[in-house]
Amino acid sequence: MIVNSKRLLLDGATGTELNRRGVDTGLPLWSANALTTDAGLSVLRQVHLDYLNAGADVITTNTFRTNRRALAAKNFSALELTLRAVATAKEAVAEFGRSTIVAGSLSTLEDCYRPELVPPADACLDEHSERIEHLVEGGVDVLLIETMNCIREAEVAARIAVATGLPTWVSFVCDVNGRILSGESLTYAAEILMPLGVSALGVNCMPAHTLAQPLRELRAVCGEEFPVMAYGNIGHVDEEQGWVNTDTTDPNGYLQNARTWPAQIIGACCGSTPEHIRKLKQGWKNSGA
Ligand SMILES: [Zn+2]
Repeated sequence: MIVNSKRLLLDGATGTELNRRGVDTGLPLWSANALTTDAGLSVLRQVHLDYLNAGADVITTNTFRTNRRALAAKNFSALELTLRAVATAKEAVAEFGRSTIVAGSLSTLEDCYRPELVPPADACLDEHSERIEHLVEGGVDVLLIETMNCIREAEVAARIAVATGLPTWVSFVCDVNGRILSGESLTYAAEILMPLGVSALGVNCMPAHTLAQPLRELRAVCGEEFPVMAYGNIGHVDEEQGWVNTDTTDPNGYLQNARTWPAQIIGACCGSTPEHIRKLKQGWKNSGA
């Protein structure tokens, strides 16, 4: 059921959208701050609902930072915040009233833009096992391993995720030359990950105009039928806030970029809004499958 339709529309940003609506997203918790107050949870639920109303076929749980490592300094329980995030996504789907895929987001254990910080293999195994257990306990439909900056950590997480029996999607962040931030190639990543049984591969959190080249590389190695996924960002990284929203790519400009991507699964990353997804629904999803 997961990728049967030819085109699948993801949602847009959660973290930066929470921030745009007045929720504190200061580091180290970033988007996970929303899970610690009733007001934050209520805004999160509305963000999910707005993406559903915009036409998203998939919504992503607000669990990018609900790992033990990110929460340690603040004494929050990773399990509790993860379950709260998944429950909030499911509440929004229930209110929307149509069956929708809930993708459980997990990312790098350390900063997603700094491959030199990736922990040793045993820590990756231990901590990703725990994260994936939490997401499965919450009842997600898909495991979305996103914004990965090197193959090593992605491979560890993907092995654990595939073993749960849930569809596993893996996405990397690349530099302007289309290399994974670690310097490794997407071709090599696909050669390692496809035999593990992942269900989709892609790239995310890079400026929309830089996605076409790495997507063509992925398409070439994955073949025509294999689901390739793409969601670009709008704005730039900030040391204290995590992200600064800008209007550098308006929803129309984003759609024009997305139309050039050889991908079956498309959404939008940091800085995007429900309006970006609405445009993709009208101009990409409805004009394809
Ligand atoms: Zn992003």
